[in-house]
Formats: sequence, C-alpha cells, structure tokens
Amino acid sequence: MSKVYNFSAGPACLPEWVLKRAAEEMLDANGSGMSVMEMSHRSSDFENILNGAKDRLRRLMNIPEDYEILFLQGGGSLQFDMIPMNFLKNGADVINTGQWTKKAIKEHEKFGKTHIAASSAEDNFTYIPKITNEDLDPDTDYVYICENNTIYGTKYKELPPHDGKRLIADLSSCILSEPVDVTKYDMIFAGAQKNIGPAGVTLVIIKKDMIEDRPDLPTMLSYKTHADANSLYNTPPCYGIYMCGLMFEYLEDVIGGLENMQKINERKAKKLYDYIDSSKLYSNPVAVEDRSLMNVPFVTGNKELDAKFVKEAKEAGLVNVKGHRTVGGMRASIYNSMPEEGVDALIDFMKKFEEENA
Ligand SMILES: *Cc1c(COP(=O)(O)O)cnc(C)c1O
Repeated sequence: MSKVYNFSAGPACLPEWVLKRAAEEMLDANGSGMSVMEMSHRSSDFENILNGAKDRLRRLMNIPEDYEILFLQGGGSLQFDMIPMNFLKNGADVINTGQWTKKAIKEHEKFGKTHIAASSAEDNFTYIPKITNEDLDPDTDYVYICENNTIYGTKYKELPPHDGKRLIADLSSCILSEPVDVTKYDMIFAGAQKNIGPAGVTLVIIKKDMIEDRPDLPTMLSYKTHADANSLYNTPPCYGIYMCGLMFEYLEDVIGGLENMQKINERKAKKLYDYIDSSKLYSNPVAVEDRSLMNVPFVTGNKELDAKFVKEAKEAGLVNVKGHRTVGGMRASIYNSMPEEGVDALIDFMKKFEEENA
C-alpha cells in the first residue's frame, strides 16, 4: 500500500492514530463484542461513547457549563436554515466573506430581514472586512460570520464587534485548530468533515439561554429537541460521533491540547507561506493579516501550468491540491490531521516543479 498526502478541503485526512484505533476496535468496541456501527443508540455502551466525547470536547475547548454541546446531522448547510428559523426575529447582520456566507444569506432571506454588514465580494473575498458597531443594523438580533473561509483561505484573527447582539459563527474549517474563548460566542457550529472527523456529524456549541421552546417549528429543526434529548431524540450518526470522540482523545492525549495543536499548525502554515512568498512562480492572493492556517490557496498565474501542477502533484502522491472551481489554481488544506511531513513533501515538490518550469 502506498500512502498519499491528502490535501482535500473536506472530507479531509484523519490522523493515522485515529484510523488505527478505529480499525482495532472495528469488530469489538470496548469489550462489547460488536462494532460501534451495530450498537443501539439507546445502549449504555453508546451513551458512554457520546458522553465521553462531550466531556473530552468540553475539556479541550474549555466549554463552560452554560453551553450545550450537540451532535446534529444535515451538515453545516442545515445550520444555514436552523439558525434563522430558531433565532431570527427582527433581523440578522451577516458579514459576507464568500461562498459559505452567501449560502447562509440566501437561507436567512427566506426567514426575515438580512442585513449585509460588510462584504469582500468586490475583491473575490481575498480579505476579511473590518467592521465597527456603526456598520451593524441597530434592529437585528445577532451577527453571523464564517470564521475561516475554506475556499479563499481567509480567517478572522479578531472577532468583529457586535455590541449588544449575539454572535453566531461557522467554524467548520478551523474548529480545534487553536484555543478559542467560547464565551465570546453565543453559538459555534462546524461540519465534522474538515477538522473533526468523518462527514455526517455537525457539532453545535450553543449557549443554553439561546435555546427556546419552539413548538411552532418542525421538531427536528428546533435546537431544544436535541438539547432536551442529549442529541438522542432520533438515531444520531453513531459511528461519526464515535470517530469524533477518538479525534478529541487524540488531540487531548497525543497532541497535548489545543495550545500545542496551534503551535504545530502555525509552524506548518508558516513554512508553506514563507516558501510561496519567496518563490517567483507561486503567489497567494490573500491579505497577509487575514491568512488562514488551514487552507492555503496559491496560483502560478498560468492556468495550464496550474493544471500541470495538479496532475504531477497527484503522480507524486500529493492528492487533492486543485483549488475550488470558483477560485481556480491550487489549494492545500493543511488541517490538524495533515502531518508536518506532508507539508514538507508539498514544499519539496513545489520547489522541484518551479525549477523544471521556470
Ligand atoms: C464545508 C463547509 C460548509 C458546508 O458543510 P456541509 O457539511 O457540506 O453542509 C459550511 N461552512 C464552511 C466554512 C465549510 O467549509
């Protein structure tokens, strides 16, 4: 078997430690004599898995007791609907930083007043707009942002001001990459398939006082349904939750917490950006202060050369480096699970490619 380095934006690579543990436990999880996939979600074996994952995440991210942790389904995309359905009353402020906020805006507009507080659309989303409280609509209930923009490689380094309003943030592609102060948010959500685990789980961290009784909503689309039932109102994505739990265990016990994870991520990203900035062939279009540690887009400036790069990189065992179709060029997603050797191998390949195609 030849192992490749997978730079996919999501579903993305997972740590070998996690995959090996899952393989070892495939036929007999925790002495149960069965796979997690076969367990009743009402069994104590599975409840231990779910509650164990929650406990680990609470420790890892330092999540206060007045926040609920939910494991939902429907991806990040269902949150684009659940959020306005549950919380939009007078209106919402959204900062438009790309494809994923555009989709959230489209859904928000179906449910009420949606004010675009700022946008970097005119510059193809290569920076994070900086706002002041004056940019917000005084009547809205909350401010909505996408903290790391997977497609463009931008990231908020400081949260926007949101005087007197709730803050709801999409952390799909940066959650667990660094410590965050959860108390600065009223709700965080993240599809698992970028930086947590396999596709099929959506993690929601939500302040308990946000959760209202909403019998008017479809039962499955009310946060209260899932909070009241400890994410077990219906059959949850059991195996995905188990995999998320293994990832939390890896981050806590093998990596040693999110401070360490951040250091590793900063080192990996710095190497790659430093090389891109020093190179004559490649460039990264993102404002330097807004660069993401997780998703690094780059171009040669020549579409045919970009295509040649993607093809030859694949032959060299560096797969899924093609940029998103709306941006073109290349993108290396270097989430938590991408080992530093993978980034080194990519840089070595880029150097060789630059020499050959100068
Ligand atoms: C991938 C992604 C989504 C969409 O996630 P799905 O699970 O495919 O619905 C939303 N937001 C961000 C930032 C993403 O990267």
